[in-house]
Amino acid sequence: MSYEIALKCRECGRKFELLAIYSCEFCFGPLEVDYDYDQIKAKISKESIANGPSSLWRYEDLLPCDTSFKVDIGAGFTPLIKSQSLAKHLGLKNLWIKNDTVNPTWSFKDRVVSIAIARARQFGYQDLACASTGNLANSVSAHAAKAGMRALVFMPDDLESGKVIGSLVYNPILTMVDGNYDDVNRLCTELAASNNWAFVNINMRPYYAEGSRTLAFEVAEQLGWRAPDHCVVPMASGSLFTKIWKGFKELQHIGLINNLDTRMSGAQATGCSPISKAFQEGTKNFVPQKPNTIARSLAIGNPADGYYALKVMEETDGSAEMASDAEIVQGIKLLAETEGIFAETAGGVSVACLKKLVESGVISTDEETVLFITGAGLKTVEAVVDNMKPAIMISPKTEEFMDQFNKLK
Ligand SMILES: *Cc1c(COP(=O)(O)O)cnc(C)c1O
Ligand SMILES: [Zn+2]
Repeated sequence: MSYEIALKCRECGRKFELLAIYSCEFCFGPLEVDYDYDQIKAKISKESIANGPSSLWRYEDLLPCDTSFKVDIGAGFTPLIKSQSLAKHLGLKNLWIKNDTVNPTWSFKDRVVSIAIARARQFGYQDLACASTGNLANSVSAHAAKAGMRALVFMPDDLESGKVIGSLVYNPILTMVDGNYDDVNRLCTELAASNNWAFVNINMRPYYAEGSRTLAFEVAEQLGWRAPDHCVVPMASGSLFTKIWKGFKELQHIGLINNLDTRMSGAQATGCSPISKAFQEGTKNFVPQKPNTIARSLAIGNPADGYYALKVMEETDGSAEMASDAEIVQGIKLLAETEGIFAETAGGVSVACLKKLVESGVISTDEETVLFITGAGLKTVEAVVDNMKPAIMISPKTEEFMDQFNKLK
């Protein structure tokens, strides 16, 4: 059972059948899933959700796939953690951390892939493919393995070994391309046109992208069915950012939350900041960039949803920031040392940008803020390995330890 009724063009509003298509044949605008919200409203309740599984499938009535095709490796329903030390350090009274590092393949991409693979199986596809900045390839490979599908994953050839091994272990067909993500995406768009594969972020993109809304559903539920004042979200293509906002609006529309006054702020790395730069220059026409940043998972120079992310910032009185490589490393360490959460570089971007948003007064001390931490740190140890306090190295002798230990004081 599913309440999706059509694909709808985000530009001209024309409706299309629910097929494996992603752009409008009249105006080339991107397609988005439309639902029968009246039926959802009649069926869903806070209680029915609370009685659902401890995964994103608790929101099945809001998801664009027949759940009998689901492939469940446990994505979603991750902790929302009240921050004490980081909040204090930043000067915030009310900070929450949505910890999506604890998903099955250690990033939020398990949310979008869960939906894409279910929809792909419903369409009858045998092969699951993606163009990836790393985390997506990990998640596609794992979900395909669980489903017994063939995985074809494509990524730039300069990614961290954690991202490479984090795919290969599931035995996909991994292709590493001499080029950046935008080159990989161009190649995959051509391959999608000539092969009968479900490319999760190309021909499955309208369904895939909907999976990110589950972050908004969870945050609202975990706060006791209300939306926060401010969200800080990392941006690559900008899809996650726009879909969290869509999720909150839908909850209000179907009556699960009352007030919605959330401000949405985006975070990028300075070395790949087309969306944040456009925001700061006051335009919605971003200029594509050639990425050069340690935040490889966010390194999309020509972001598909950049324009829509900028519209959400405008609509919600939000903002955008960017963080240098050094600030990203400091952000990773600050989060680890204050909250016990080891994030990948994208998490460092989020923390560093939150800090700047507070320092510049965009986020005020008493705004209830949710910081989205979307990927785990063991995938990107390269970024921090040279910035750690070294271990004490000894032979197993008490005097040697005490001698070195006393030197620390
Ligand atoms: C993919 C990714 C994002 C953001 O992706 P969008 O393309 O903007 O939806 C954020 N964080 C991590 C860790 C990612 O892998
Ligand atoms: Zn159109």
